[in-house]
Amino acid sequence: MVGCSGSMPGPASAASSYLVQADGVAADGDTDAGAARPWNVLLDLGSGAFGPLQTLTAPNRLDAVLLSHLHPDHCADVTALAVWLRYGPGSPGPRVVVVGPEGTGQRLAELSIMTAQEIAETFDVRTVRDGETLTIGPLVVTAHEVRHPVTAFAFRITGPDGAVLTYTGDTDACAGVEAAAAGADLLLSEAAFTDGVDEVRGIHLTGRRAGELAVAADVRRLVLTHLQPWADPERIRRDAAAVYAGPITMAAPAAVYEVSTVS
Ligand SMILES: [Zn+2]
Repeated sequence: MVGCSGSMPGPASAASSYLVQADGVAADGDTDAGAARPWNVLLDLGSGAFGPLQTLTAPNRLDAVLLSHLHPDHCADVTALAVWLRYGPGSPGPRVVVVGPEGTGQRLAELSIMTAQEIAETFDVRTVRDGETLTIGPLVVTAHEVRHPVTAFAFRITGPDGAVLTYTGDTDACAGVEAAAAGADLLLSEAAFTDGVDEVRGIHLTGRRAGELAVAADVRRLVLTHLQPWADPERIRRDAAAVYAGPITMAAPAAVYEVSTVS
């Protein structure tokens, strides 16, 4: 976990960002093609997350950044990564793959001081649509469109040993997120809203709705994240546990989870 605060950075955590690491081999175009090496793929890079990211990996060692959607709490710090890649140690290196919805390149240019041309020189921006699958080193990633006020995806990520991690991004309950999570070994689910408090629909899950998703998708483990700084984590965990009997933990900065097909 790089950052897990919902909607904005909180006093103890940056906004959304999760580092996925998997063993693979260097790609064909690399200088060390075919050699074993770990791959580093980021899920979102929201406001404030570029700071703690540097405690986990050198930013120029990232292979890809997957953006669930283009709200600032999920993508704002890609602009900091752009500056690092252009002017920091080892620059300019190879372009970093950035995967996101239609309009990702333009959004990053608007958020940064860079032109669309400079963004294109820094990032290999790939837009995805609902149901599209792409391979990033040892990881197979499928984007499932979910229910949020802007185009947003949940990512289903299958590792080299077949273990499945699903990240909901931001969503209310919907068929898309359920398909993304089906049978996942670990479901990293947002639970931004509080049952009985936030009645508006079409934006976020609650503890209870995250628990219902975990039950419907029959996942093996649930990690709740994206709680807003004013939320009560214990209440949200209890609401999820009222419907889902499997293991539930609350995401925390610097927490590490091993995603595996065995307990
Ligand atoms: Zn959002």
